[in-house]
Amino acid sequence: MSINKLSSVTILHNALVVTMDPLRRVFRDGAVAFEKDSIKAIGHSKEILLQFSSHSPNIIDLNRQFILPGFVNTHVHTSQQLGRGIADDVDLMTWLHKRIWPYESNMTEEDSYISTLLCGIELIHSGVTCFAEAGGQHVSGMARAVEELGIRACLAESIMDSGEGLPTSWSNRTTGECIQSQKNLHKKHHHMAEGRIRIWFGIRQIMNATDHLLMETCNAAKELNTGIHMHVAEIAYENQVVKDTRSVEHGTVRYLQKIGFLQKNVLAAHTVWVDDNEIALLSQAEVKVSHCPAAAMRMLGFAPVKEMLDVGICVSLGTDGAPSNNRMSIVDEMYLASLINKGREVFKKGTTNPTTLPAETVLTMATINGARTVLWDNEIGSLEIGKKADMIIVDPLSWTMMPIADWISSLVYCMRTENIVSVICNGRWIMRDRKILTVDEEKVILMAKDASAELLRRADIQLPQRMNVL
Ligand SMILES: [Zn+2]
Repeated sequence: MSINKLSSVTILHNALVVTMDPLRRVFRDGAVAFEKDSIKAIGHSKEILLQFSSHSPNIIDLNRQFILPGFVNTHVHTSQQLGRGIADDVDLMTWLHKRIWPYESNMTEEDSYISTLLCGIELIHSGVTCFAEAGGQHVSGMARAVEELGIRACLAESIMDSGEGLPTSWSNRTTGECIQSQKNLHKKHHHMAEGRIRIWFGIRQIMNATDHLLMETCNAAKELNTGIHMHVAEIAYENQVVKDTRSVEHGTVRYLQKIGFLQKNVLAAHTVWVDDNEIALLSQAEVKVSHCPAAAMRMLGFAPVKEMLDVGICVSLGTDGAPSNNRMSIVDEMYLASLINKGREVFKKGTTNPTTLPAETVLTMATINGARTVLWDNEIGSLEIGKKADMIIVDPLSWTMMPIADWISSLVYCMRTENIVSVICNGRWIMRDRKILTVDEEKVILMAKDASAELLRRADIQLPQRMNVL
C-alpha cells in the first residue's frame, strides 16, 4: 500500500467492484477513484490508474477485496438502542405498553444521543452508510450523534396525536404542536453535517394519528419537499381498528389511499397485512416499502415481499429497533430476507420456490432500492461517476466466505458483519480495518451501559428473571 498525502484524489484498485449501477456492472479487477465527497471514476484498475497518473493520486491496493455501495437501512429506531433486550419473548401489548412506551417517554436528549451513537457503531460495522430513522425521541440528540459518526441519515420524530394508553407526557400534544415541532426540527437540522442529515416527517402509526394529523403531515412534507416515515399495516389488529373506527372496507392502506395520503414520498414500514388490491394501490402511488425480516418474524408475520416486488414497488431493507430485533445488522437482514421469502412460498403454495428473492434482488434492496426509498438515489445507492463516495470494503478471505463460487450469492448468503473491514461515507473513511475512526467505540459502549441502566431504573422497567439464576 502506498499513500501519497499530497493529492486529493484517492484510487482504490485491484478490487472486485460491484457497482449496482443500472447495468449492474461488476469489475473483476476494478478501481474506484474519488475526490472530496464524490466518485470521479470507476472501471478496470489499469484504465483508472492511467487516467489519473498525472494527478499524483493516493493509490490503495485492495488486494482482491470487494468494493460495494454503502448499505441503506431504511427502518431503524436509533433512540431504542439503549432498550436492547427489554422486550424479548413478550406479547405485543406488553412490548408496547409496559416496555417501549415507558422506556421512550423517560428518555432525555442525552440518552437519545448516546443511543444513536451506539446504534450508529453497529450500523457502520454492518456496512450501513445511510439510514432512515423510523421516528424516535429527541431528534436533536440523534442529529448530534449522526454528525459525529460521519454517517448519512433521514431523521424523524416519533409523532402521535391520539390513541389509547399513551404516557401522560405524550397524550396532551395537539396536532398543531406535532407539525410545528417537526417544522422546527427541519429548520434546525435539515442539510446539516455537510448535507448528510435530512429531516423527514414521522407518523408512528395510524392508530395514534388523527385524520387531521395525517393530512397536515402530507401538506407539510410537500411544502418542505421531504419524506414521511410511517409504520403501515403492521398487525391484523391495526386493520381491524381502522375498519371499525374509520368506516372503510379494509384496513390502513385502503384508508390512506381514500384520504389522499399515499404519495411517492411516503416510506411505509413493514406493510405485512396487505392484500393484492392494497399492493396495487401502493404501487400506483409509488409508495416505498421497508421490509424488516427479523422484526416481522418476531412480532408481525410474513410480508408479501415477492408480490410487492413483482408489481414494481420499491422494497428495501430495515432492521427496525433493538427491542424488536436485537441485531442492527443489514447483513443479517439480507440473509434473512432471502430465506424467509423463499420459505413463505412453501407456506403459501405448498411447493418450494428457491428462485424467490435471488441474491441480486436482495443486494438491490439493500443498496439502490434503499437509496430510492429514502429519496436520495440521485446521490447514493450505487457506485457511479458523480455520486457521493459512500462505499464499503469487504474482505472475503475468511472461513465465513471461502471458497467463493459465485461472488453475488456469497455476499448475501455467506458474508457476515465481520467481513466488512472499511466504510467510507461522503468521501471520508469512517471505519478502517474494522476500527471506527469517528467516535471512540469503547467509550460509547461504557456510556451506553450506564445510560441504559439509569433509564430503565427511571422508567421502572423490571424484567422477570429467567431460569434459575443463583
Ligand atoms: Zn419500527
